[in-house]
Amino acid sequence: MKTIEDLGDLRGKRVLVRSDFNVPLDGTTITDDGRVRAALPTLNALLDAGARVVVTAHLGRPKGAPEDKYSLAPVATRLAELLGKPVALAKDTVGESAKATVAALGDGEIALLENIRFDPRETSKVDAERESLADDLAALADVYVSDGFGVVHRKQASVYDIALKLPHAVGKLVLKEVDSLRKATDDPERPYVVVLGGSKVSDKLGVIANLMTKADRLLIGGGMVYTFLAAKGYSVGNSLLEQDQVETVKGYLAQAAERGVEIVLPTDIVVADTFAADSPHDVVAADAIPDGRIGLDIGPASAELFRSKILDAKTVVWNGPAGVFEFEAFSAGTRAVASALVDAGKNGAFTIVGGGDSAAAVRILGFDEAGFGHISTGGGASLEFLEGKTLPGIAVLEA
Ligand code: ADP
Ligand code: MG
Repeated sequence: MKTIEDLGDLRGKRVLVRSDFNVPLDGTTITDDGRVRAALPTLNALLDAGARVVVTAHLGRPKGAPEDKYSLAPVATRLAELLGKPVALAKDTVGESAKATVAALGDGEIALLENIRFDPRETSKVDAERESLADDLAALADVYVSDGFGVVHRKQASVYDIALKLPHAVGKLVLKEVDSLRKATDDPERPYVVVLGGSKVSDKLGVIANLMTKADRLLIGGGMVYTFLAAKGYSVGNSLLEQDQVETVKGYLAQAAERGVEIVLPTDIVVADTFAADSPHDVVAADAIPDGRIGLDIGPASAELFRSKILDAKTVVWNGPAGVFEFEAFSAGTRAVASALVDAGKNGAFTIVGGGDSAAAVRILGFDEAGFGHISTGGGASLEFLEGKTLPGIAVLEA
């Protein structure tokens, strides 16, 4: 892969950068700016080189049309603060405003195009549609830099097709992510422990089959737990459950036993009456979740168990919070996992946090980011990387 330095003299050149600015928002307030900060090394390097920087990114899940609540305006404001210079925000993605905004850029200046997913061609399954958007993007720039790690597993116009249209390079963030994740995929130091949680259960169940061939131990927390408990024949009340995956999970449990991969499930659960910060809650045994109640965190005994199963690891990958950490009452499990990773790191383990919400949890719960080996900005992308899959947005840069 070519790096930014391989692109030659960039002074006066229009450089299109794909960044990942898919930040969590509360109204128009960014609640975790980690992804914006992660984009700075590449953007600063390009600006320092005198390039005219044009950034494209997405935010949230608009349905292929502009929607105010998914505007990148809050990101433009935060980015300007962090860069210490103005960021010109175009009113559209590749339309008249984008063209005018780019044309007005001087050397060492930066513009941000509106949410690229306001254009339905970005995520189209029809090659010609994505290519036509890539043509429109290419018309705005001389070279392309891929730095949105969170989207490199997607074959999308601003990630994949654009690289076929312009001279291209890998950005500093994507390079750092790939280097760090390779440490866990190419011959990881063992024990290699993977902690899975979060709420994207069906997405993540898919990776288990693959991780089972690589990891020594799998710890299951978060919303994924209930499909495992159901597979063991326990009732899970109103907890998150993927009923149609129960048979698959039974298969994983059998496979793990055969392969000698240890699967660690919580032994106790914090159950609540409703999905709410102030809901009454209790700790119950994992095989005794009452009807009508919802499991929102792993219990204290499980937190201790998880800690002990993480502490002796030499490589730890964590993807997905152990509970609904956004609510203080259900944050202890996630806190325990994060602190066990930090302590394993002190014992010499290489630790990786992947997943947008997991990375946000680390910061929101007040952990020092320096205590982790690598905090990935990409959830799906980091998991697919760890599974050994080919990521289209990386492969296209290698071509
Ligand atoms: P990541 O972004 O780290 O990959 P996900 O997007 O899969 O993680 O899931 C994050 C979300 O999972 C968090 O918002 C958290 O509140 C939620 N979550 C964790 N445990 C549970 C649970 N038991 N029930 C419902 N949601 C949960
Ligand atoms: Mg998430």
